[in-house]
Amino acid sequence: MSVQQPTDQIFNQLDVFGHKKVVFCSDPDTGLRAIIAIHDTTLGPAFGSTRMWAYKSEGDALNDVLRLSKSMTYKCAIAGLNMGGGYSVIIGDSRKDKTEAMMRKFGRFIKNLNGEFITSEDVGTNPRDMEYIRMETQHVTGIPESLGGSGDPSPIAAKGVYMGIKACVREQFGTDSLTGKSVIVQGIGHVGENLVKLLRDENAKVYISDINDERTRQVSKKYGAEAVSNNSIFDIDADIFSPCALGAIINTETIGKLKCSIIAGSANNQLQDEHQHGEMLLEKGILFAPDYVINAGGIINCYSELMGFSKKRTLQLTENIYEATRNVLKLSKLEKISTTDAANKIAEKRIADIKKVKSTY
Ligand code: NAD
Repeated sequence: MSVQQPTDQIFNQLDVFGHKKVVFCSDPDTGLRAIIAIHDTTLGPAFGSTRMWAYKSEGDALNDVLRLSKSMTYKCAIAGLNMGGGYSVIIGDSRKDKTEAMMRKFGRFIKNLNGEFITSEDVGTNPRDMEYIRMETQHVTGIPESLGGSGDPSPIAAKGVYMGIKACVREQFGTDSLTGKSVIVQGIGHVGENLVKLLRDENAKVYISDINDERTRQVSKKYGAEAVSNNSIFDIDADIFSPCALGAIINTETIGKLKCSIIAGSANNQLQDEHQHGEMLLEKGILFAPDYVINAGGIINCYSELMGFSKKRTLQLTENIYEATRNVLKLSKLEKISTTDAANKIAEKRIADIKKVKSTY
Protein backbone atom coordinates (compact mmCIF):
# COMPACT_ATOMS: atom_id res chain seq x y z
CA MET A 1 0.00 0.00 0.00
CA SER A 2 1.43 3.32 -0.98
CA VAL A 3 -0.19 6.72 -0.79
CA GLN A 4 0.89 7.26 -4.38
CA GLN A 5 -1.72 4.67 -5.32
CA PRO A 6 -5.12 5.79 -6.60
CA THR A 7 -7.26 7.17 -3.79
CA ASP A 8 -9.89 4.46 -4.21
CA GLN A 9 -7.28 2.02 -2.83
CA ILE A 10 -6.67 4.21 0.21
CA PHE A 11 -10.40 4.46 0.82
CA ASN A 12 -10.67 0.69 0.40
CA GLN A 13 -8.07 0.22 3.10
CA LEU A 14 -9.93 2.64 5.39
CA ASP A 15 -13.10 0.60 4.78
CA VAL A 16 -11.35 -2.68 5.63
CA PHE A 17 -9.94 -1.31 8.89
CA GLY A 18 -13.13 0.66 9.63
CA HIS A 19 -11.49 4.07 9.95
CA LYS A 20 -13.57 7.19 10.29
CA LYS A 21 -11.13 9.89 9.27
CA VAL A 22 -7.51 10.35 8.19
CA VAL A 23 -5.91 13.79 8.17
CA PHE A 24 -2.72 14.52 6.21
CA CYS A 25 -0.83 17.45 7.76
CA SER A 26 1.69 19.20 5.54
CA ASP A 27 3.66 22.32 6.36
CA PRO A 28 6.74 22.92 4.18
CA ASP A 29 7.80 25.91 6.34
CA THR A 30 8.50 23.71 9.36
CA GLY A 31 9.07 20.48 7.42
CA LEU A 32 6.05 18.89 9.06
CA ARG A 33 4.63 15.86 7.29
CA ALA A 34 2.24 13.99 9.55
CA ILE A 35 -0.79 11.73 9.41
CA ILE A 36 -3.51 11.66 12.05
CA ALA A 37 -5.80 8.62 11.88
CA ILE A 38 -9.09 8.52 13.74
CA HIS A 39 -10.39 4.98 13.86
CA ASP A 40 -13.50 5.01 16.03
CA THR A 41 -15.13 7.59 18.30
CA THR A 42 -18.11 5.61 19.60
CA LEU A 43 -16.80 5.64 23.17
CA GLY A 44 -15.38 9.16 23.14
CA PRO A 45 -12.77 11.33 21.44
CA ALA A 46 -10.03 9.40 19.66
CA PHE A 47 -7.02 8.98 21.90
CA GLY A 48 -3.59 8.02 20.60
CA SER A 49 0.08 8.84 20.80
CA THR A 50 2.26 10.71 18.34
CA ARG A 51 5.14 8.68 16.92
CA MET A 52 8.00 10.30 15.01
CA TRP A 53 9.83 7.86 12.75
CA ALA A 54 11.93 7.95 9.59
CA TYR A 55 9.56 5.74 7.60
CA LYS A 56 10.94 4.22 4.41
CA SER A 57 7.87 5.36 2.49
CA GLU A 58 4.68 7.36 2.97
CA GLY A 59 2.81 4.09 2.49
CA ASP A 60 4.64 2.58 5.48
CA ALA A 61 3.70 5.60 7.59
CA LEU A 62 0.06 5.30 6.56
CA ASN A 63 -0.02 1.57 7.30
CA ASP A 64 1.53 2.13 10.72
CA VAL A 65 -0.87 4.87 11.75
CA LEU A 66 -3.90 2.89 10.56
CA ARG A 67 -2.81 -0.23 12.44
CA LEU A 68 -1.90 1.65 15.62
CA SER A 69 -5.10 3.72 15.70
CA LYS A 70 -7.28 0.62 15.33
CA SER A 71 -5.54 -1.10 18.23
CA MET A 72 -6.14 2.02 20.37
CA THR A 73 -9.88 1.62 19.84
CA TYR A 74 -9.67 -1.90 21.27
CA LYS A 75 -7.30 -0.92 24.07
CA CYS A 76 -9.56 1.91 25.30
CA ALA A 77 -12.67 -0.25 24.99
CA ILE A 78 -11.36 -3.18 27.01
CA ALA A 79 -9.82 -0.92 29.65
CA GLY A 80 -13.30 0.52 30.24
CA LEU A 81 -12.28 4.05 29.20
CA ASN A 82 -14.66 6.43 27.49
CA MET A 83 -12.26 7.14 24.65
CA GLY A 84 -12.07 6.12 21.04
CA GLY A 85 -9.02 5.09 19.05
CA GLY A 86 -6.65 7.26 17.07
CA TYR A 87 -2.92 7.71 16.45
CA SER A 88 -0.62 10.07 14.66
CA VAL A 89 2.75 9.73 13.00
CA ILE A 90 5.22 12.41 12.02
CA ILE A 91 7.51 11.39 9.17
CA GLY A 92 11.15 12.19 9.95
CA ASP A 93 14.15 11.47 12.12
CA SER A 94 13.34 12.73 15.61
CA ARG A 95 17.05 13.30 16.41
CA LYS A 96 17.66 15.53 13.38
CA ASP A 97 14.39 16.88 12.04
CA LYS A 98 12.35 17.81 15.11
CA THR A 99 11.98 21.46 16.08
CA GLU A 100 9.79 23.52 18.39
CA ALA A 101 8.10 25.10 15.37
CA MET A 102 7.32 21.69 13.86
CA MET A 103 5.75 20.38 17.06
CA ARG A 104 3.76 23.56 17.61
CA LYS A 105 2.53 23.49 14.03
CA PHE A 106 1.48 19.91 14.60
CA GLY A 107 -0.35 21.14 17.72
CA ARG A 108 -2.28 23.53 15.46
CA PHE A 109 -3.45 20.64 13.27
CA ILE A 110 -4.65 18.83 16.41
CA LYS A 111 -6.38 22.02 17.57
CA ASN A 112 -8.27 22.18 14.26
CA LEU A 113 -9.83 18.79 15.05
CA ASN A 114 -11.69 20.49 17.92
CA GLY A 115 -11.15 17.75 20.47
CA GLU A 116 -11.88 14.81 18.17
CA PHE A 117 -8.25 13.66 18.69
CA ILE A 118 -6.13 13.82 21.84
CA THR A 119 -2.50 12.82 21.83
CA SER A 120 0.45 11.84 24.04
CA GLU A 121 4.13 10.90 23.62
CA ASP A 122 5.46 7.78 21.90
CA VAL A 123 8.62 6.57 20.15
CA GLY A 124 10.48 9.65 18.91
CA THR A 125 8.54 12.16 21.01
CA ASN A 126 8.87 13.17 24.67
CA PRO A 127 7.23 15.30 27.40
CA ARG A 128 8.98 18.43 26.07
CA ASP A 129 7.31 17.89 22.67
CA MET A 130 3.97 17.51 24.44
CA GLU A 131 4.62 20.85 26.10
CA TYR A 132 5.13 22.42 22.65
CA ILE A 133 1.88 20.89 21.41
CA ARG A 134 0.18 22.15 24.60
CA MET A 135 1.21 25.71 23.67
CA GLU A 136 -1.17 25.43 20.71
CA THR A 137 -3.92 23.11 21.93
CA GLN A 138 -5.27 21.63 25.14
CA HIS A 139 -5.87 18.29 23.44
CA VAL A 140 -2.64 16.65 24.62
CA THR A 141 -1.58 14.63 27.68
CA GLY A 142 1.71 13.36 29.10
CA ILE A 143 2.72 16.81 30.29
CA PRO A 144 5.42 16.72 33.01
CA GLU A 145 4.17 16.51 36.60
CA SER A 146 5.85 19.85 37.37
CA LEU A 147 3.43 21.46 34.89
CA GLY A 148 0.36 19.78 36.31
CA GLY A 149 0.44 16.69 34.09
CA SER A 150 0.55 13.00 34.95
CA GLY A 151 4.25 12.56 34.19
CA ASP A 152 6.00 9.34 33.17
CA PRO A 153 3.38 6.63 32.48
CA SER A 154 5.87 3.75 32.61
CA PRO A 155 5.49 2.78 36.31
CA ILE A 156 1.72 2.58 35.82
CA ALA A 157 2.17 0.64 32.58
CA ALA A 158 4.42 -1.82 34.44
CA LYS A 159 1.86 -2.17 37.22
CA GLY A 160 -0.79 -3.12 34.65
CA VAL A 161 1.50 -5.74 33.09
CA TYR A 162 2.20 -7.10 36.57
CA MET A 163 -1.56 -7.42 37.24
CA GLY A 164 -1.98 -9.16 33.88
CA ILE A 165 0.82 -11.61 34.74
CA LYS A 166 -0.89 -12.37 38.05
CA ALA A 167 -4.19 -13.11 36.29
CA CYS A 168 -2.38 -15.57 33.99
CA VAL A 169 -0.53 -17.19 36.88
CA ARG A 170 -3.89 -17.70 38.62
CA GLU A 171 -5.15 -19.49 35.50
CA GLN A 172 -2.10 -21.72 35.00
CA PHE A 173 -1.00 -22.36 38.59
CA GLY A 174 -4.13 -21.71 40.68
CA THR A 175 -2.53 -18.94 42.75
CA ASP A 176 -1.88 -15.20 42.37
CA SER A 177 1.48 -15.38 44.03
CA LEU A 178 4.61 -14.84 41.96
CA THR A 179 6.93 -16.00 44.73
CA GLY A 180 9.21 -18.65 43.31
CA LYS A 181 7.89 -18.22 39.77
CA SER A 182 10.49 -17.55 37.10
CA VAL A 183 10.10 -14.72 34.58
CA ILE A 184 12.19 -13.66 31.57
CA VAL A 185 11.87 -9.92 30.91
CA GLN A 186 13.07 -9.00 27.42
CA GLY A 187 13.83 -5.27 27.24
CA ILE A 188 14.49 -3.47 30.49
CA GLY A 189 13.71 0.07 29.44
CA HIS A 190 11.15 2.31 31.14
CA VAL A 191 8.46 -0.36 31.55
CA GLY A 192 10.77 -3.37 31.81
CA GLU A 193 12.79 -2.00 34.72
CA ASN A 194 9.67 -1.06 36.69
CA LEU A 195 8.31 -4.54 36.05
CA VAL A 196 11.54 -6.17 37.24
CA LYS A 197 11.22 -4.22 40.48
CA LEU A 198 7.64 -5.39 41.09
CA LEU A 199 8.57 -9.00 40.31
CA ARG A 200 11.65 -9.01 42.53
CA ASP A 201 9.66 -7.34 45.36
CA GLU A 202 7.52 -10.48 45.27
CA ASN A 203 10.55 -12.79 45.20
CA ALA A 204 10.13 -14.03 41.67
CA LYS A 205 13.25 -15.37 39.95
CA VAL A 206 13.89 -12.84 37.17
CA TYR A 207 16.03 -13.19 34.04
CA ILE A 208 16.67 -10.05 32.01
CA SER A 209 17.95 -9.38 28.53
CA ASP A 210 18.50 -6.17 26.60
CA ILE A 211 20.61 -5.04 23.66
CA ASN A 212 22.02 -2.34 25.94
CA ASP A 213 24.69 -4.22 27.95
CA GLU A 214 25.40 -1.39 30.35
CA ARG A 215 21.74 -1.12 31.27
CA THR A 216 21.51 -4.89 31.70
CA ARG A 217 24.44 -4.81 34.14
CA GLN A 218 22.91 -1.94 36.13
CA VAL A 219 19.41 -3.44 36.40
CA SER A 220 20.83 -6.86 37.21
CA LYS A 221 22.85 -5.45 40.10
CA LYS A 222 20.10 -3.14 41.38
CA TYR A 223 17.37 -5.80 41.63
CA GLY A 224 19.25 -9.09 41.80
CA ALA A 225 18.04 -10.25 38.40
CA GLU A 226 20.08 -12.68 36.28
CA ALA A 227 21.35 -11.20 33.03
CA VAL A 228 21.12 -13.46 29.98
CA SER A 229 22.06 -12.89 26.37
CA ASN A 230 19.33 -12.09 23.90
CA ASN A 231 20.22 -15.22 21.91
CA SER A 232 19.72 -17.54 24.84
CA ILE A 233 16.36 -16.35 26.20
CA PHE A 234 14.50 -19.10 24.37
CA ASP A 235 16.75 -21.76 25.93
CA ILE A 236 15.70 -20.81 29.46
CA ASP A 237 13.08 -22.92 31.12
CA ALA A 238 11.05 -20.18 32.84
CA ASP A 239 7.35 -20.03 33.74
CA ILE A 240 6.70 -16.66 32.11
CA PHE A 241 8.12 -14.82 29.12
CA SER A 242 7.52 -11.07 29.28
CA PRO A 243 8.33 -9.21 26.04
CA CYS A 244 8.91 -5.56 26.94
CA ALA A 245 10.94 -4.43 23.91
CA LEU A 246 9.74 -5.35 20.47
CA GLY A 247 6.67 -6.23 18.48
CA ALA A 248 6.38 -9.42 16.36
CA ILE A 249 8.64 -11.32 18.78
CA ILE A 250 6.11 -14.17 18.92
CA ASN A 251 6.24 -15.91 15.57
CA THR A 252 6.41 -19.38 14.07
CA GLU A 253 10.11 -19.70 14.84
CA THR A 254 10.02 -18.47 18.44
CA ILE A 255 6.82 -20.37 19.32
CA GLY A 256 8.69 -23.55 18.38
CA LYS A 257 11.42 -22.70 20.89
CA LEU A 258 9.39 -21.28 23.79
CA LYS A 259 9.42 -23.33 26.99
CA CYS A 260 7.24 -21.03 29.13
CA SER A 261 3.57 -21.55 29.94
CA ILE A 262 2.67 -17.83 29.93
CA ILE A 263 3.53 -14.91 27.63
CA ALA A 264 2.65 -11.55 29.17
CA GLY A 265 4.52 -8.33 28.51
CA SER A 266 4.20 -4.67 27.59
CA ALA A 267 5.44 -4.63 23.99
CA ASN A 268 2.78 -3.67 21.46
CA ASN A 269 1.75 -6.16 18.75
CA GLN A 270 3.79 -9.08 20.09
CA LEU A 271 2.20 -11.63 17.75
CA GLN A 272 3.62 -11.38 14.25
CA ASP A 273 0.31 -12.65 12.89
CA GLU A 274 -2.50 -12.11 15.36
CA HIS A 275 -4.69 -14.96 14.11
CA GLN A 276 -2.12 -17.59 13.09
CA HIS A 277 0.16 -17.21 16.09
CA GLY A 278 -2.72 -16.77 18.54
CA GLU A 279 -4.03 -20.16 17.36
CA MET A 280 -0.55 -21.76 17.54
CA LEU A 281 -0.15 -20.66 21.16
CA LEU A 282 -3.62 -21.99 21.99
CA GLU A 283 -2.70 -25.39 20.51
CA LYS A 284 0.62 -25.45 22.38
CA GLY A 285 -1.11 -24.63 25.67
CA ILE A 286 0.83 -21.40 26.18
CA LEU A 287 -1.34 -18.72 27.72
CA PHE A 288 -0.94 -15.43 25.88
CA ALA A 289 -2.08 -12.24 27.63
CA PRO A 290 -3.11 -9.96 24.73
CA ASP A 291 -0.73 -7.02 24.89
CA TYR A 292 -3.33 -4.32 24.47
CA VAL A 293 -5.22 -5.67 27.48
CA ILE A 294 -2.33 -5.73 29.94
CA ASN A 295 -0.28 -2.74 28.71
CA ALA A 296 -3.20 -0.31 29.08
CA GLY A 297 -1.70 1.28 32.23
CA GLY A 298 0.08 3.95 30.17
CA ILE A 299 -3.11 5.10 28.53
CA ILE A 300 -5.01 4.89 31.82
CA ASN A 301 -2.44 7.32 33.22
CA CYS A 302 -3.08 9.77 30.37
CA TYR A 303 -6.85 9.31 30.69
CA SER A 304 -6.58 10.16 34.39
CA GLU A 305 -4.71 13.34 33.48
CA LEU A 306 -7.59 14.36 31.20
CA MET A 307 -10.23 13.51 33.80
CA GLY A 308 -8.34 15.09 36.69
CA PHE A 309 -8.25 11.78 38.57
CA SER A 310 -6.13 11.22 41.66
CA LYS A 311 -3.16 8.86 41.72
CA LYS A 312 -5.26 6.52 43.86
CA ARG A 313 -8.00 6.34 41.19
CA THR A 314 -5.41 5.80 38.46
CA LEU A 315 -4.00 2.89 40.40
CA GLN A 316 -7.47 1.41 40.93
CA LEU A 317 -8.21 1.58 37.20
CA THR A 318 -4.86 -0.07 36.51
CA GLU A 319 -5.52 -2.83 39.02
CA ASN A 320 -8.74 -3.59 37.09
CA ILE A 321 -6.45 -5.03 34.40
CA TYR A 322 -6.36 -8.18 36.55
CA GLU A 323 -10.14 -8.65 36.15
CA ALA A 324 -10.09 -7.64 32.48
CA THR A 325 -7.43 -10.29 31.81
CA ARG A 326 -9.36 -12.92 33.78
CA ASN A 327 -12.46 -12.20 31.66
CA VAL A 328 -10.45 -12.65 28.46
CA LEU A 329 -9.00 -15.95 29.67
CA LYS A 330 -12.43 -17.21 30.74
CA LEU A 331 -14.00 -16.43 27.36
CA SER A 332 -11.06 -17.98 25.53
CA LYS A 333 -11.50 -21.20 27.53
CA LEU A 334 -15.29 -21.24 27.23
CA GLU A 335 -15.38 -20.70 23.48
CA LYS A 336 -12.07 -22.49 22.74
CA ILE A 337 -10.80 -19.43 20.90
CA SER A 338 -7.45 -17.69 21.14
CA THR A 339 -7.06 -15.10 23.88
CA THR A 340 -6.65 -12.41 21.21
CA ASP A 341 -9.95 -13.35 19.58
CA ALA A 342 -11.56 -13.37 23.02
CA ALA A 343 -10.19 -9.90 23.84
CA ASN A 344 -11.36 -8.55 20.48
CA LYS A 345 -14.84 -9.96 21.11
CA ILE A 346 -15.10 -8.30 24.52
CA ALA A 347 -13.86 -4.95 23.19
CA GLU A 348 -16.24 -5.07 20.20
CA LYS A 349 -19.17 -5.96 22.45
CA ARG A 350 -18.53 -2.96 24.70
CA ILE A 351 -18.38 -0.63 21.69
CA ALA A 352 -21.62 -2.10 20.27
CA ASP A 353 -23.36 -1.82 23.67
CA ILE A 354 -22.35 1.81 24.17
CA LYS A 355 -23.42 2.63 20.62
CA LYS A 356 -26.92 1.53 21.63
CA VAL A 357 -26.76 3.63 24.81
CA LYS A 358 -25.83 6.67 22.75
CA SER A 359 -28.75 6.19 20.34
CA THR A 360 -30.95 8.14 22.79
CA TYR A 361 -30.28 11.86 22.90
P1 NAD B 1 12.08 1.83 26.17
O1 NAD B 1 12.58 2.32 24.87
O2 NAD B 1 12.29 2.61 27.40
O3 NAD B 1 12.68 0.36 26.45
C1 NAD B 1 12.84 -0.60 25.48
C2 NAD B 1 14.06 -1.42 25.86
O4 NAD B 1 14.14 -2.52 24.97
C3 NAD B 1 15.36 -0.64 25.75
O5 NAD B 1 16.13 -0.80 26.92
C4 NAD B 1 16.06 -1.27 24.53
O6 NAD B 1 17.47 -1.28 24.63
C5 NAD B 1 15.50 -2.68 24.58
N1 NAD B 1 15.54 -3.37 23.31
C6 NAD B 1 15.37 -2.87 22.06
N2 NAD B 1 15.50 -3.85 21.15
C7 NAD B 1 15.76 -4.98 21.84
C8 NAD B 1 15.99 -6.32 21.47
N3 NAD B 1 16.04 -6.70 20.20
N4 NAD B 1 16.19 -7.21 22.44
C9 NAD B 1 16.21 -6.87 23.75
N5 NAD B 1 16.01 -5.61 24.15
C10 NAD B 1 15.79 -4.68 23.22
O7 NAD B 1 10.53 1.51 25.93
P2 NAD B 1 9.41 1.34 27.04
O8 NAD B 1 8.73 2.64 27.25
O9 NAD B 1 9.94 0.59 28.20
O10 NAD B 1 8.37 0.42 26.25
C11 NAD B 1 8.64 -0.96 26.04
C12 NAD B 1 7.52 -1.56 25.19
O11 NAD B 1 6.27 -1.40 25.86
C13 NAD B 1 7.36 -0.87 23.82
O12 NAD B 1 6.96 -1.84 22.89
C14 NAD B 1 6.22 0.11 24.06
O13 NAD B 1 5.54 0.40 22.87
C15 NAD B 1 5.37 -0.66 25.04
N6 NAD B 1 4.53 0.18 25.89
C16 NAD B 1 5.09 1.16 26.66
C17 NAD B 1 4.28 1.94 27.49
C18 NAD B 1 4.85 3.03 28.35
O14 NAD B 1 4.11 3.64 29.12
N7 NAD B 1 6.15 3.31 28.26
C19 NAD B 1 2.90 1.70 27.56
C20 NAD B 1 2.36 0.67 26.79
C21 NAD B 1 3.19 -0.09 25.95
